[in-house]
Amino acid sequence: MDAKRRTNADCLEDIKEVIAGGVSSSMRAAAVPVPLVVRRAEGCLIRDVEEGEIVDFNMGYGPNLFGYADPDVAGALADQFTRGHMTGLPHELDAEAGALVAELVPGVEQIRFANSGTEAVTSALRLARATTGRSLVVTFEGHYHGWSETVLRAGKTTLQIQGTRPTDVVPGAPGMIPEALAHTAQLPWNDAEAVEELFARDGDRIAAVILEPVLVNAGVIPPLPGFLQLLRDLTARSGAMLIFDEVITGFRVARGGAQELYGVEPDLTVLSKVMGGGFPVAAFGGRKTAMRMLATNEAHHAGVYAGNHAALRAVVTVLTKIRALPGLYDELEAIGAGAEDAVREVFAVEKRPVHISRVGSLMGVALLRKPLEKGDSLRDLAEAVDFSRHRRFQALAQREGVYFHPNALEPWFLSTAHTGDILDKAAGALRRALTELG
Ligand code: PMP
Repeated sequence: MDAKRRTNADCLEDIKEVIAGGVSSSMRAAAVPVPLVVRRAEGCLIRDVEEGEIVDFNMGYGPNLFGYADPDVAGALADQFTRGHMTGLPHELDAEAGALVAELVPGVEQIRFANSGTEAVTSALRLARATTGRSLVVTFEGHYHGWSETVLRAGKTTLQIQGTRPTDVVPGAPGMIPEALAHTAQLPWNDAEAVEELFARDGDRIAAVILEPVLVNAGVIPPLPGFLQLLRDLTARSGAMLIFDEVITGFRVARGGAQELYGVEPDLTVLSKVMGGGFPVAAFGGRKTAMRMLATNEAHHAGVYAGNHAALRAVVTVLTKIRALPGLYDELEAIGAGAEDAVREVFAVEKRPVHISRVGSLMGVALLRKPLEKGDSLRDLAEAVDFSRHRRFQALAQREGVYFHPNALEPWFLSTAHTGDILDKAAGALRRALTELG
């Protein structure tokens, strides 16, 4: 059959034959109820194998702040590949990339590179446990920190949390060792009382508190005023490390990430996504005092590909670009506001309630079963969401030429490529989808 004439469904069948489930990440397994197989991507547009043009609000789960196929990133990588990109030795780019991260992120003086958010989180947690000599790690319900054994917990959808309390740590997948979560505690997001209680009871056992400073992975729920500062005060007092997982928020909600936006400096920061412009790279870092055990080689963090020269080049390219664009975050805020307005207008005709939340270029959009009084509690939000109707809406929108994640609690990612005319086009498609949904 002519490759050009094949449908998404045909291609996906072929892929499924050789790639288990048709995807190389279980996080993606649920993401394409209507098959979508990419041929190329540019700006914020995906061209599928049927040559349809789809406006993307998932943007590869966040790394493509400047859109797909950004010429600066593509050009720099192409050049680096001709120079050798993987020697397993230090490179001059290490100093350059590290200095840029340290300059832009308030709480960072030193970093280590890794290849994925999961790896960087795993290493940051190990460093925190090694540094404090304690084991207990405190997490928050719905916050995602990758798929490693001590942090993968259920908690995003009503289905997953049914019959549990917010403090129940439920393994996120079959095959996990239940004991691996024995040193992981979980608290409800934005619940100051619960945090204070845990610290009063177990403060001297806590190695680290890890969180997404904005809960992006479940509903885009910002921290309540004072909540991050409370965590800062309690961890400082008890000798625990505060870890901001800024895999999504880093270089996105502000140049210096959520820690700059909210004015709270963690002990360790985990970074990825925007930093690499789509190339797989992550990092974790903090003040030199926090990184001491890695500097002295007492703690362990490793990876053949960690800090490969192509990853460093991508980081240098993206961060240099960010530094050279003083108006970037105003522009992203304007794009976010424009997208929010457009989506609100589309839903103005919808009789049933919709929840929309936004921090800069990150937006949560969820169709609800019942009105939501306050959007600051994950439990309240998850209970109000109509997951199946949202999913149907997503499938219709995709047919109309707009892609976003079908899980109503997943964020929408915007980029500098989401210009006004593209947002108008997307709004038209969303409107048609909503009419069809009825
Ligand atoms: N932390 C956060 C906040 C994330 O959003 C993600 C991925 N979406 C991760 C960690 C894990 O990163 P990776 O998928 O690169 O392992």
